[in-house]
Amino acid sequence: MTIKAVIINKQDDVYSVAPGELNASDLMDGDTLVRVSHSSVNYKDGLAVTNRAPVVRRFPMVPGIDMVGVIEETTAPGLAAGDAVILNGWGTGETHLGAWAKKSRVPGAWLVPLPKDLSAEQAAAIGTAGYTAALCVLGLQDAGVTPASGPVLVTGAAGGVGSVAIALLGALGYHVIASTGRPDEADYLKKLGANEIIARDELSGKLRALGKERWAGAVDSVGSTTLANVLSMTRYGGTVTCCGLAGGMDLPSSVAPFILRGVSLIGVDSVMAAREKRLRAWELLDQKLDRKLLAEMTTVVPLSKAIEVGEQIVDGKVRGRVVVTIV
Ligand code: NDP
Repeated sequence: MTIKAVIINKQDDVYSVAPGELNASDLMDGDTLVRVSHSSVNYKDGLAVTNRAPVVRRFPMVPGIDMVGVIEETTAPGLAAGDAVILNGWGTGETHLGAWAKKSRVPGAWLVPLPKDLSAEQAAAIGTAGYTAALCVLGLQDAGVTPASGPVLVTGAAGGVGSVAIALLGALGYHVIASTGRPDEADYLKKLGANEIIARDELSGKLRALGKERWAGAVDSVGSTTLANVLSMTRYGGTVTCCGLAGGMDLPSSVAPFILRGVSLIGVDSVMAAREKRLRAWELLDQKLDRKLLAEMTTVVPLSKAIEVGEQIVDGKVRGRVVVTIV
């Protein structure tokens, strides 16, 4: 049996990414064999295929940090052949062969059930970006930020995390301010649920320890100067959830927002998040994410196009989410 896949290799310091084939013996350890039907292109997959950051820590590697498919064989407790499942993160595409392949062997404990009201394609469209957006929204809710608290800002708005965060926050009744570097996407962002659009430049300028108080909460996927400015403009007692580094990994901030305004900064990691958090996030997505808006933000490509989209996403050229069909 050969398994069609995208394979990243590194030999004699030469990094290569190309369509290829795996043998069944190439699959990794795990008590569960999944027939993959859909994956997606996340920012991290883009970093992996372009080698712009050292996310791949084992060679050969198969990219694809999102997996949706059906179990073919399993000895894991609580799972059975035929179950439709989702896997997000856990090191797939980094240390464990990822989902841009027709089959994958993984520990069953990494899998969550596909909610019955979501199709496999919709679950892949949500993917890590959408599930992370849900974790960010839950972080705001858990910190007590309600629609009555005031507006919530979403940075990197037209990206995957941003698009799903806007749709979720809009559905939950928040007044959403979307920050984007692509003003031509204003109509798209408004359709998703943004009430106001601001230019990315407003948050990338000169830093002040404290700025005018503008939002009660924020979902930030950009980091760096943007996050520092977001913090400095967060209202007294507000909360910012931070999950990304599309603008850089640094954080040139001061303690002023924390000690003078009681602002909280909550870190969000999707890769190693506990199962209980994952189930909560997928429940929120299942219940509150409008399927028409999800379709609006989704593009579907075959596996043969995934590498090209990976190159585009790290240049900020992808809008919303891109599903990769594997079958
Ligand atoms: P996308 O590429 O889809 O979106 C990122 C968006 O950020 C872009 O669309 C753009 O939005 C904005 N952006 C890009 N470059 C810059 C820049 N130089 N300065 C300011 N804004 C910029 O990626 P995702 O939404 O999938 O992921 C966003 C970030 O979140 C990534 O860094 C990713 O690694 C991280 N992430 C982290 C996770 C975690 O577990 N913590 C999980 C998932 C993602 P616009 O054009 O609207 O300005």
